[in-house]
Amino acid sequence: MHNENTTNFGYRKIPTQEKATHVAHVFHSVAEHYDLMNDLMSFGMHRLWKRFTLSQSQVRSGQRVLDVAGGTGDLTRVFAEKVGKKGRVVLADINDKMLLQGRERLLNQGVIGNVTYVQADAEQLPFPADYFDCISIAFGLRNVTDKAAALRSMYRVLKPGGKVLVLEFSKPMLPMLNTLYDKYSFHVIPRLGEWICNDKDSYQYLIESIRMHPDQETLKEMMREAGFEDVDYHNLTGGIVALHKGFKY
Ligand code: SAM
Repeated sequence: MHNENTTNFGYRKIPTQEKATHVAHVFHSVAEHYDLMNDLMSFGMHRLWKRFTLSQSQVRSGQRVLDVAGGTGDLTRVFAEKVGKKGRVVLADINDKMLLQGRERLLNQGVIGNVTYVQADAEQLPFPADYFDCISIAFGLRNVTDKAAALRSMYRVLKPGGKVLVLEFSKPMLPMLNTLYDKYSFHVIPRLGEWICNDKDSYQYLIESIRMHPDQETLKEMMREAGFEDVDYHNLTGGIVALHKGFKY
């Protein structure tokens, strides 16, 4: 999937050093309509997947949380409520446009005071070691060029006793669901992208990147290799999405 010189950008093989630029182009293009597209593409299901993730976080008042690849801030908003005034949430994203979109949206929703917005690459998180009580990455990992490096970077900045949550598209469990899901994804989603964002190619990439992403067991192993312990996952919507959890002791 990823070697020294080439990597996947959706189904295409490209030089590794070019992937971040291609991904940046995708999220620059979709940022403005990102939230609307999420609701349309998933029939609002992404809200349930995120709610489940938040319920598993067990984040408490006063804690420090890092939302990696936080985008428009769905998780950050609720984490900010949970940690309260004495806590802190950092929304980190590599893409300035997604970050601005997220900041503007959360400010408009009255989320002020305990959220910091940082432009950062998941592979090299610019935070001290052993710093956060909880780290999330939702629908972000599959866009990262070196996923192992991103997992190691998250491990480094997580406190001993802390928890990581990786919410990502995964492999549907039932063959019939898989077939239906494929038809829907490849026929409907790029057309929606064209209609709403005037950009079919970005949504074609997003669908392809989902298919190229490691399945449940592979990601579990990758998380273990990065150092996380007690790694496990919950399948959501028949495995279309999975939430992986891991700990640092
Ligand atoms: N977490 C948000 C959500 O669940 O709605 C946004 C997910 S969006 C599909 C993926 C996000 O990952 C984009 O905002 C993109 O800019 C960000 N991203 C891509 N590569 C990244 C990287 N290497 N480091 C940090 N963020 C990255």
